[in-house]
Amino acid sequence: MNNPFLHTPIDYLKGVGPNRSKLFKKELKIFTYQDLLSFFPYRYVDKTKYHKIDEINNTKSEIQLIGKIVDLYESGSPRKRRLIAKLKDDTGFIELVWFKSHKWIKESLILNKNYIIYGKPNMFNGIYNIPHPELELYKKENLKYRSSLDPVYPSTENLIKRGITNKVIRDIVKELLLKTKSKFVESLPKYIIKEYKLLDKNSAIINIHLPKSNQFLSKAIKRLKFEELFYLQLQLIKKNISRKEKIKGFRFKKVGNTFNSFYNNHLNFSLTNAQKRVLKEIRRDLGSNAQMNRLLQGDVGSGKTIIAFMTTLIAIDNNFQACIMAPTEILSVQHYNNFKEICKLLNISIQILTGSTKALEKRKIYDELENGELQILIGTHALIQDKVKFKNLGIAIIDEQHKFGVAQRSKLWKKNTLPPHILIMTATPIPRTLAMSVYGDLDISVIDELPPGRKNIITVHRKENSRLKVIHFLREEISKGRQAYIVYPLIKESEKMDYKDLLDGYDSLSRDFPLPEYQISMVHGKMKPEDKDYEMERFISGTTNILVSTTVIEVGVDIPNASVMIIESAERFGLSQLHQLRGRVGRGTHKSYCILMSGNKTTNDSKIRINTMVKSNDGFEIAEKDLEIRGPGNLMGTQQSGIIPLKIANLVSDKNMISTIRDYVKKILATDQNLTKKENTTILNTYKHLNKNNNIWNYIS
Ligand code: ADP
Ligand code: MG
Repeated sequence: MNNPFLHTPIDYLKGVGPNRSKLFKKELKIFTYQDLLSFFPYRYVDKTKYHKIDEINNTKSEIQLIGKIVDLYESGSPRKRRLIAKLKDDTGFIELVWFKSHKWIKESLILNKNYIIYGKPNMFNGIYNIPHPELELYKKENLKYRSSLDPVYPSTENLIKRGITNKVIRDIVKELLLKTKSKFVESLPKYIIKEYKLLDKNSAIINIHLPKSNQFLSKAIKRLKFEELFYLQLQLIKKNISRKEKIKGFRFKKVGNTFNSFYNNHLNFSLTNAQKRVLKEIRRDLGSNAQMNRLLQGDVGSGKTIIAFMTTLIAIDNNFQACIMAPTEILSVQHYNNFKEICKLLNISIQILTGSTKALEKRKIYDELENGELQILIGTHALIQDKVKFKNLGIAIIDEQHKFGVAQRSKLWKKNTLPPHILIMTATPIPRTLAMSVYGDLDISVIDELPPGRKNIITVHRKENSRLKVIHFLREEISKGRQAYIVYPLIKESEKMDYKDLLDGYDSLSRDFPLPEYQISMVHGKMKPEDKDYEMERFISGTTNILVSTTVIEVGVDIPNASVMIIESAERFGLSQLHQLRGRVGRGTHKSYCILMSGNKTTNDSKIRINTMVKSNDGFEIAEKDLEIRGPGNLMGTQQSGIIPLKIANLVSDKNMISTIRDYVKKILATDQNLTKKENTTILNTYKHLNKNNNIWNYIS
């Protein structure tokens, strides 16, 4: 790793030159020898098998041919000129076609010489051709160097356009491997290599590029993944440890009267085991000297709110103030209404602050916050205005964190001498492996259990032709006294059209469910906040039977009497969003339903999403699927953190390996926190080197 030779710029490599080196840097971020050798193939193809031209039929994969180019000409209009080469073997002819940048090919091809052609046949007008094939002059002695595991490297359109084919990259890498032989410094200590039966570094690098056999290839992959994940976890865990050492926090020494009084006298259900465990984790943090920075994940309805409330009580028992921040006015009001009665009984002062709080009221709140009279403040973004000054904020709880940016969160930080403890709650579960990797500096608690008695929400997929039946079903539910949500997608680019869908939907529902027998509320983003709240309030109070809306209701609304969720154009929603929406029902004792409406045409991805919803009620399972479909970069809640730039390991498919390695790293650090033991010298050196160079912190924070 630390070998200076490996830091040589790729310009010095035979076959690279200034133009190519520029392209490598720009397109692939490859600057040095080391970068190039850490640029791994993503698949391997068999280059020892050959086809005859008359054997080509319907193959979907690449094939190899040997034949002579017997004709070479350009065709098409001047602006869309393509180069055609006619290839002949003893069974027939096939055309090779280049649509772009064929000047260099035209100049270098030699007629009537044998070539080895590699490419994917393509049927055009009933005839096969091979677009943009790889070409190599046929030489008998070269045949024995051809591999059944020939590497294929990731590429970009620009590279291909400029003639940097896979073959070019492969040859350059090969050349470099010859030069580099055994120059990689081992980056894992012997005892780990032995314990996990890993390939040594040099063999791994050689075999990932030029595998000796399938067996060596798998060993190389395993070794390189292990190394990558090992150092990722090491960096994350070390960062977490040093944060705890550096960032001191208030120490909440006791669990006092308010907490106990609430727990013993006012909590009218027993906590689930998961809730108890999480509460213990939080109490442990609050009792230590470090600032708590904890992410609480729990599926919709798993009971995060009560944990939040009880956490604030611990702060109050230690003479500190607490605040709970929610992403919307509706949610803030909901929390406030939840807590205010109980606060009265416990003799605690609580207030709500949102955009619509009256000026007079606001001033009173500011004053009481500063002089410490006010103990709990609930609210929206309004809480992070400069005017809001706490006397001694001990803990800030943030509900549904993905709606708050990092910058907004850190505003809370500065309100005090010491930073308050932070608890972030999210119902968008992030698969453990991803959470462990992306939120390495947060501690994570998970409520992985729903309160007893919750029934699964029955989820079905219905197409347009079943609409009448759906309406009929809805009528039945309403006649039993239930309420229903009907949600329309709203995606910015086509906002006008979506808006029309919503209004049309509302009109036709009004016909199916006419006044005065039925009442319908509608909320959407274009309404004034007052009107929105008014309509919401009518639904919450049970005055209206149906709430027609856009996704403004996505987050956290809790109306136990609602038992039906109909999602229109469900194919247009993402998985986690569908799951969030479904979580709005099934919150009471009533059997609940989620009906996913879709058009007749759905893409493969949307089919998978809908089927996943129909099959599973488990938010974590759904999140894993989401990760599989979309890749980690798009997952909600992780955009802020960026994607971890893994070269070979995969956060989804290698999740077992990630857990194992994480535990293993923890074990090593438990006995040798600073990696000063002799046996860990290699780890320390590699770690220092990584921190200096490819700084992973840029991606995590
Ligand atoms: P979320 O995790 O989605 O925020 P909530 O905190 O809103 O979920 O809880 C959903 C409902 O479950 C609330 O009505 C809450 O009172 C109730 N609840 C929470 N914990 C329990 C429990 N241990 N037993 C029974 N009901 C509970
Ligand atoms: Mg909630």
